[in-house]
Amino acid sequence: SSTVSLARRRYATEPKQAPGVGTVDKHEFQAETRQLLDIVARSLYSDHEVFVRELISNASDALEKFRYTLLSDTEKALAAKDRALEIRITTDKPQMQLIIQDTGIGMTREELVSNLGTIARSGSKQFLEQMKSENKAGEATSNIIGQFGVGFYSAFIVAQRVEVFTRAATPDAPGLRWSTDGSGSYEITEVKDVDYGTKIVLHLKTDCREYADEDRIKAVIKKYSNFVGSPILLNGKQA
Ligand code: ADP
Ligand code: MG
Repeated sequence: SSTVSLARRRYATEPKQAPGVGTVDKHEFQAETRQLLDIVARSLYSDHEVFVRELISNASDALEKFRYTLLSDTEKALAAKDRALEIRITTDKPQMQLIIQDTGIGMTREELVSNLGTIARSGSKQFLEQMKSENKAGEATSNIIGQFGVGFYSAFIVAQRVEVFTRAATPDAPGLRWSTDGSGSYEITEVKDVDYGTKIVLHLKTDCREYADEDRIKAVIKKYSNFVGSPILLNGKQA
């Protein structure tokens, strides 16, 4: 009938509607990202703890970006006047989780897709090219990971699943959950009660459970925190 064709035409021309709360939106990783994740997850890279530096530096960048928007946006600055600009790290031994949260700029749905679903980072691209040209595994891979760094994806050195809860810094921005086990695809779901900023939940691999230990994480933070411009709280205390 004409109703059907009208509906169809409308579906084809209108911008795709963002799914509402609870609707799971499934995406395939870009082919290069899949390759990179595969290598990172299976690598024998011994210097596991670099992932802490990468995730803290992303949290720090997100806080810097947020501070920067406040300079030019009085309305936003007013709305955020009670917001502590900090990095909160939580260890949960029984659940084998490490949580790295920031109160920074956050991400929109589109940013989640472009920033965490594709490889934009030059270091990661170089890493893949080097891998392809050398075509080696094991020890060689390890050195290359250390040499180039793999940014956010280094989470998969220690995590079997990564969840990212994020909310961009605009009043009407929805809370979003990005989740993957690092194989072919990831999901984005709109969820309630997400704080402004970004919270990364690492579900640790069994042999990496040491990163759910407060003292272990404290020692790693000590190594890198000199370069971080925002306060870092570990389980509620100044790290
Ligand atoms: P890089 O930091 O070199 O850009 P990463 O792989 O570490 O590369 O991160 C990719 C992108 O994901 C970042 O550029 C940023 O846009 C986004 N991102 C990662 N972590 C966060 C975060 N905590 N808050 C906001 N955006 C983030
Ligand atoms: Mg980074």
